[in-house]
Amino acid sequence: MIRELFGLTRFVLRELCPPPLPSPPAEFLNLGKRALRLARQIAELGPRPPGSEAHDQLQSIISSSLAKLDCLVEDEEFTAQTPIGSVPMCNYIAKFSGEENRTVVISGHYDTIHPDVVLPTGRVVRCWRLYRQALGKRVTTPKVFLGANDGGSSTALLLEIARSLRDRSLKQNTWIAFFDGEEALAHWSQDDQTYGSRHQAQQWQQDGSLKQITALVNIDMVGSRNLRVAYDMDSNDQLRGLVWRVARRCGYARRFPVRPGRHMADDHIPFIQAGVPAVDIIDAEYGPGNAFWHTLEDSPDKLSAHSLGMIAHVVLEVLRELDCTGRQYSTGHVGGAAEGRAPIP
Ligand SMILES: [Zn+2]
Repeated sequence: MIRELFGLTRFVLRELCPPPLPSPPAEFLNLGKRALRLARQIAELGPRPPGSEAHDQLQSIISSSLAKLDCLVEDEEFTAQTPIGSVPMCNYIAKFSGEENRTVVISGHYDTIHPDVVLPTGRVVRCWRLYRQALGKRVTTPKVFLGANDGGSSTALLLEIARSLRDRSLKQNTWIAFFDGEEALAHWSQDDQTYGSRHQAQQWQQDGSLKQITALVNIDMVGSRNLRVAYDMDSNDQLRGLVWRVARRCGYARRFPVRPGRHMADDHIPFIQAGVPAVDIIDAEYGPGNAFWHTLEDSPDKLSAHSLGMIAHVVLEVLRELDCTGRQYSTGHVGGAAEGRAPIP
């Protein structure tokens, strides 16, 4: 209770006297504006859990958008064994070739949770039995949960980042990965989460691509007006250091605080575990006491082109530095994964 009160007070204070958000340079602000428009369109599809009609529609948007770019697009279809049965999923990888045999990956997830029950508090609780019945019937999911930030912001920003790579000449290969199935289908647990990234890490290990990957930067929930990026203790120390240094240099230090340290369970973890230097850029405080997370409040009005532009600026600067220096990072450590996110009831 005290923690909730503390969170609420902090949120109210931030709302009343928000720290000034430096405007990203025009190039990135415009990118943020385009990403915002796209995130709104994506949110309008409604909830996008794997197997739903809206999920299919979003897959078409992702593949048709990527097809217009000068890159190789790979669809990585797989069947996930989940607590509600076998669920078809698909990761999309847009591959921009560089001159060298090394690769940087920018990733994020495009699925959302499956909301079924709305509690009087406004919190959305998934009823996985209903989801299992609906699976395969392509039923229209009720448009109660929009996932504007959680699922929407990462998808939109990745598409815009991919678009911005069209005209860049790259030393290293740059892959933009859209992961499916980040969300739990029943209850968040060791086996019920991050299906797409776990599958991809395994695939790249088997085909040898993993050895070429010098860094993976994952983005998740990056569109909030009050964006504060969590200092994830499970990210690779050196790569996290680079991201925070770049953010500070760009004038965004207040949006990239170094306290408190968090442990974020997200799509970067399977790669950390596989020995790839990886970092997570995620806002873990979405609304008062994280109240907008996985609720009806995760709507487009909470998003800001400034925040999206700021993250694009940081990610593309990090990418530029990685590309110039070709620096090799030692492999990261994993502390207590899954501590940062409360299990979903
Ligand atoms: Zn989520």
